[in-house]
Amino acid sequence: MSLQARDKAHIWHPLTQHKTHPDVLPISSAKGALLYDENGVSYVDGISSWYTCVYGHCHPYIIEKVYAQMQQLDQIVFSGFTHQPAVELSEKLIKILPDNQQKVFFSDNGSTTTEVGIKMALQYHYNKGNKRNTILAFQEGFHGDTFGAMSASGLSVYNGPFTEHFIKVVRIPVPSEETIDSVLNELQQLIAKNKIAGFIYEPLVQGAAGMKMYPAQALNKILKICNAHEIITIADEVMTGFGKTGANFASEAVATKPDVMCLSKALTAGLMPMGVTTCTQKIYDAFYSNDMSKGLFHAHTYTANPLACTTALAAIDLLLSQEVQASKKRIEQAHIAFANSLKNHDKVTNIRTKGVILAFDLNIQMKRYGKLRDQLFDHFKNEGVYLRPLGNTIYLLPPYVTTTEQLNKIYQAIQSLLNSL
Ligand SMILES: *Cc1c(COP(=O)(O)O)cnc(C)c1O
Repeated sequence: MSLQARDKAHIWHPLTQHKTHPDVLPISSAKGALLYDENGVSYVDGISSWYTCVYGHCHPYIIEKVYAQMQQLDQIVFSGFTHQPAVELSEKLIKILPDNQQKVFFSDNGSTTTEVGIKMALQYHYNKGNKRNTILAFQEGFHGDTFGAMSASGLSVYNGPFTEHFIKVVRIPVPSEETIDSVLNELQQLIAKNKIAGFIYEPLVQGAAGMKMYPAQALNKILKICNAHEIITIADEVMTGFGKTGANFASEAVATKPDVMCLSKALTAGLMPMGVTTCTQKIYDAFYSNDMSKGLFHAHTYTANPLACTTALAAIDLLLSQEVQASKKRIEQAHIAFANSLKNHDKVTNIRTKGVILAFDLNIQMKRYGKLRDQLFDHFKNEGVYLRPLGNTIYLLPPYVTTTEQLNKIYQAIQSLLNSL
């Protein structure tokens, strides 16, 4: 029996309506920017496997480090114990994060990092004896699929069965330079009417919304108002973190720094799952007490798994290497040139680039998960490229190690798509 047939027997895939979904594609290996299927056909991984494998798949440097760690210490309870990889990772992260970040809380994935961020914001006020019950978020934000994260996500197309169980969230639109004043107005009204504990946002680029980009100055104005009202600001950098927008973190481009930061995806370069939520001393201090119940009672079995921490340490070494920094610049410039070449195409609107991210919208009507979307996916697959369009948005976030030749292959696949429309 083929892998596809065996897969069908017992596997339930994420984000999938199995009755209408086309067959899934078995992948047997991956190296650098390339994925290989069972027949040895290769595909350029144009989205770094959901923004994780930015240093390329199966990177020998990371593998070597993790292999050594595997023979030393595999797993230990992180309540009551500590270990070298976790301590080193905390130090390394604090060194590269915005200056105000001081403490690192470990968890397993992006959703748990935002879940922890939301809990930090709610309990911060609770511990201070001033209960606040509302979270502020952007209309089209995405923060994950656990309940707190899902509640904060504005992109809840298929969350109908759960909405009545959500935590309380109020929303503002993502600002542009033109709309910022009216957004600030809305924000002031929401603050007056609600007890807002925290504001969760994806800085500069909203990934799941279709790589929607918005200006740092406008975000900064929102953050300043939040600070003035002691609303804990939570930067969800699960997608933007570790160099995607150019700087190591998108928050670097914003004058006002967040109280809390959520990191996952490229944190562990696609090799191990892990997430961290970092925060300022001010947040940590609100939990520091002789009173046991003021602590943060949140844990996962694999919290700060030594292999995951080792992966993250090796990944940060690569991020900071001259080779990766130079390669990122090369991709950034190639994107800008390609974006310019698309500017006058009548089927293309809203071309945007930031760092290694390039996105544009097709000037045609379509559903987020419709038939045309499957056709786009198939087109790219047939061209030897893995892209995953979101509705009518086509976006690239290639690994930093993607060669110029591989990049051109992606661009050509897009060109041939546009020519066929
Ligand atoms: C992917 C993502 C999440 C959720 O992360 P998971 O690891 O899939 O749970 C949260 N926030 C943002 C911005 C993301 O891109």
